[in-house]
Amino acid sequence: MPPKQQVMSRTLFDEIILPVYAPAQFIPVKGEGSRVWDQQGKEYIDFAGGIAVNALGHCHPKLVAALQAQSTQLWHTSNGFTNEPALSLASRLVNNTFAERVFFANSGAEANEAAFKLARHYAVKTFSPYKTKIIAFYQGFHGRTLFTVSVGGQAKYSDGFGPKPADIVHVPFNDLNAVKAVIDDHTCAVVLEPIQGEGGLTAATKPFLSGLRQLCDQCNALLIFDEVQCGMGRTGSLFSYMDYNVTPDILTSAKALGGGFPISAMLTTHKIAKVMSAGCHGTTYGGNPLACAVANAAFDIINTPEVLSGVADRSTRFLQQLEKINQQYGVFTTYRGKGLLLGAELAPAYQGQAADFVQLAAEFGVLILNAGHNVLRFAPSLIIGENEIEQGMLRLMQAVSHFVKR
Ligand SMILES: *Cc1c(COP(=O)(O)O)cnc(C)c1O
Repeated sequence: MPPKQQVMSRTLFDEIILPVYAPAQFIPVKGEGSRVWDQQGKEYIDFAGGIAVNALGHCHPKLVAALQAQSTQLWHTSNGFTNEPALSLASRLVNNTFAERVFFANSGAEANEAAFKLARHYAVKTFSPYKTKIIAFYQGFHGRTLFTVSVGGQAKYSDGFGPKPADIVHVPFNDLNAVKAVIDDHTCAVVLEPIQGEGGLTAATKPFLSGLRQLCDQCNALLIFDEVQCGMGRTGSLFSYMDYNVTPDILTSAKALGGGFPISAMLTTHKIAKVMSAGCHGTTYGGNPLACAVANAAFDIINTPEVLSGVADRSTRFLQQLEKINQQYGVFTTYRGKGLLLGAELAPAYQGQAADFVQLAAEFGVLILNAGHNVLRFAPSLIIGENEIEQGMLRLMQAVSHFVKR
């Protein structure tokens, strides 16, 4: 029997969806470029980009065309077969990065899970069964599976789920001496986001990353960059390791990789990949033809000089407009992040209220994000238009004006 006709209201969420999210009170139903509309037809300018996912905005015509074309050809084969879109996407990734081998999965957490398992397996098979220590960082975020959330550096996400995978050590980000104090021959990997996203838009310093590279080389440990949020053009380079000129051994990508279609990838080298064999690891949907077809289209647009070099200019515009708001209302102390992954830290008087800011901004017609309680986060489309930035910032200014008065 088909379900009874039901109004798809926000209250239904509270009744039947697992209460792990606190979504906005309105329900978006349509998006185009950097604009979104809700059930009531109200328009929003999108500075959130689905948390750094919609790198080409909503319903980009070339992504729509790729999805439509693939949808009449082949949806799914399982890993009993390979498929053309997956081979094509893997070639793009290999040809444009340090990588020689690619593993596809469906989410950032799964790509990281594969990365951590690979690092452990490589160390165990190549060196010693005791070489399993993973060094990670406070405020880091790597996903919500038990392994990835345990590598992540926020107890509020990882505690309360019973015993965690062992041999994971956390130290302060950008503190090379802290890493030196714990790294040893039993370390299999050092894991970090070159720009911490969820943790508050803290960018690694260049000496920190090159120092980590050196330490890893000395200890035969692998350097893993989680570029799930900061990669795929966000900083103006295809991947942010290219800005730093420090090459990891394993890199993970997701979020913007599919431009809104779920897909992730783990990249590595032949030398490391060769410890894996058929049956070692896997996932049903990894390298799904629909996902890869969309990702191929997204990749070909993002990996162009026009899009990548446009990031710096848009970033400057964002910062200028934020500073204009700040000059008038004094709500921010510093700006953080890079490219189009930006944070504005709230002034002491407003600390702890980032989520309230986000909600009020939506009421005024602009979608933004927070990163923790004290930082507003912006992760818009890499091709957002000048007038959309202007209009969105005008709305943000109105929201801020309202906020400081209340
Ligand atoms: C979002 C995110 C993840 C997790 O990705 P999911 O697709 O939600 O599993 C992992 N690492 C970083 C840096 C992220 O921003």
